[in-house]
This record gives sequence, structure tokens and C-alpha cells, in this order.
Amino acid sequence: MTRPVMTDIKSLTREELEAQLKAWGEPAYRAGQVLDWLYARRAATWEAMTNLPKPLRAKLAEQFTLHTLELVRQQGAHDTTRKFLWRLADGSLIESVLIPANPALYGEASDRHTLCVSTQVGCAYGCKFCASGLDGWKRNLNPEEIVEQVLATERAVASERHQATGETPTPTGTRHPSRTVNNLVIMGMGEPLANYEHLLKALRLLNAPWGGGIGARKITISTSGLAPQIRRLAAEPEQFRLAVSLHGATDEVRTRIMPVNRKYPITELAAALADYQRAKDQLITFEYILIAGVNDGLDQTRPLAALAERLHAKVNLIPYNAVEGLPWARPTEAVCEGFLAALEGHGVTATLRREKGGDIDAACGQLRLRTEREINGAG
Ligand code: SF4
Repeated sequence: MTRPVMTDIKSLTREELEAQLKAWGEPAYRAGQVLDWLYARRAATWEAMTNLPKPLRAKLAEQFTLHTLELVRQQGAHDTTRKFLWRLADGSLIESVLIPANPALYGEASDRHTLCVSTQVGCAYGCKFCASGLDGWKRNLNPEEIVEQVLATERAVASERHQATGETPTPTGTRHPSRTVNNLVIMGMGEPLANYEHLLKALRLLNAPWGGGIGARKITISTSGLAPQIRRLAAEPEQFRLAVSLHGATDEVRTRIMPVNRKYPITELAAALADYQRAKDQLITFEYILIAGVNDGLDQTRPLAALAERLHAKVNLIPYNAVEGLPWARPTEAVCEGFLAALEGHGVTATLRREKGGDIDAACGQLRLRTEREINGAG
């Protein structure tokens, strides 16, 4: 008989954990202690939870898994954009990217960090410029695998700091050590809204004051444009922010690089975004990767501006980072600046990402792709 799949402790809400502990006859304060170990102290083992009685730790270990992500590779250095390649319990690889605070992108100016997290292994949406979808879709991430990307990144940063300064990596006795990650963008590998249930559960765990403690307005969900799920998200109580990977302001251009546009063309996407806007009264962000000769013509700026104006959206222009094996190229700096100026000329709030990033496998999904191909002997 096969053993039933165990639930991971980091996929439980406070209520679920309290109910389990109550059923075991444990005092009410135990749930707070467990959550403190998981989210504030980022404990990686049951043994680390030293203020829990041993029999309770044994019971928890019998009932729940406590998976942590294994760091396979890291790129980038302190104070720059850093990529982490993680191995999941089933051997699959995913990426997270830690970005130093940038007031022009998401959230406010501060010394805080934004983490870009993955929600699926691979991606089924097959955007033509993207490394994440190149080898197809493998599976959805579980809530704890999304949550763990934040905790594992913070563990890695803390242990690095420990090596550099001797500072204790997990400050025992400190109930609320400062979070390294204060902003989240759900923009890594995968289409987040195609893993809706697990995504929402993970974000609620990361948002809860007893969990990750990251404000809903500091969490940006990025979608390739799944109109029905955008409407569903509009009906949720949380004020998560929404970004749309637009990359084309006409159906002709968008369909060429994003197959999802056949299913949800721009008119339908815009209607869903208008609903979101009405429900949340928030600025939406359009991500627009500038690809040479594809969507960087000045003729695209007018429809893009019209869409942005109608939906009160701001536009983030991102010069394309070349992906090995794909034919697309980054436009020249002058073209990017010209596109920005034309958009601003139409009255749109827009930013242009100017950092290089070519030194690491900057495009989403590239580090994973390269590592997997090396492992499989194809690279
Ligand atoms: S851009 Fe996003 S939705 Fe499109 S293939 Fe890549 S990961 Fe999937």
C-alpha cells in the first residue's frame, strides 16, 4: 500500500494548525510557537523548535512534512540582483530572484528587497520570447513551495551575512527579526493565475500577520492575461496589486509573441482589467518587454497609450534579455529611449528598466533551463 501524501506544515493556515493542535489536546499557545518558528525564525528542522516538547515535535514530524528548498546555484552578488536556483523535494528546479529596492518598479523607495517568485515548474503558456516555457509545463507548485521561496532566500542571505560578519543566522529569542523580503512580485516561472488556489493560499500565508507579514499592497501578481481569473481575483478581499505582461498593444503583435492572446484577445483582457480596476481602485501595471523589430515600433505607442489611459495603468518598459536558442534581440538604447519618450508624449506614466543584468542569466527561467540541460547532458 502506498503511503498517503503528507501535508506540509507550511501550507496550513493558523486556524488549521490550531484545530490540529487542539485535537491533540495541546494548549492554545502552541500554534503561536510553531508559527513563530516557521515564519519569524525560519526554522528548517523540527529539532530546531526547542521550546516545543519533544513528543509534540515527534507527532508533528509524523503528521506533516517540513520541506525546505535546496539551493543548487546562485548568481549575482550582495546588493545586486541575485538569482537562486532551488531543488524541490521531487527533484524539480525553480528560480527566485532577489532584487534590491527600486522605487521606479514596485513598492516604495527603501532599503528593502523584492523577491520574484515562481508558481509552477515550467509553463504551459509558451510565450515566444520566454525561457520558462521552452521545455513546457511540468506541474503546479504547492502553497508551501511558494512560501518557502521567501523563507529559503532569507535563510540563504542570513547565512551569507553570518559567514561575512559572524552575526547569528537565525536570531533565536527575537520574535520578529526584520524581513529581508518586503515586496513580492509573482512573476517568476509559470503563469500564477493558472495555479490560482495554491497561489492564493500561499499569498494569504505570506500576508498574514502571524505568517510572512508582507502587506497585500506589497504583493504584485503578474499574469499573461487570463481574463476569467483576473475577474475572480477582483472579487477577493485582499488588495493584491496586479501587473499584466502585455508586450503588445494590438492583437496582431500580441498574438505573434503570446499565444494566450488568441484565447483572451486585448478587448476581452481590457474588459476584465476594467472590472479589476473598479473593484480595487488601484493602479494596474503593464509590463512591456521591448523586442527589436517585433513590438518596439513607434506605431505601437499610440494603442499602448490609449489602453494605459483607459485602464489607469502605468507602463514598465523592459529591454529584452536574449535567451539562448531564441531568435529575438534587444533593441538599441536609442530605440528604447525613443519608445519611452513617445509614450510619455502621449501622457502615459512609464518607466524604462536601464540596469544591465546581462552578466547573469537575466531572463526569467534561463538559469533553470541551462542547469537542467547540463544535468541531462544536452547543454
Ligand atoms: S512569460 Fe510567463 S506566462 Fe509566458 S511562457 Fe513565460 S512564464 Fe509562462
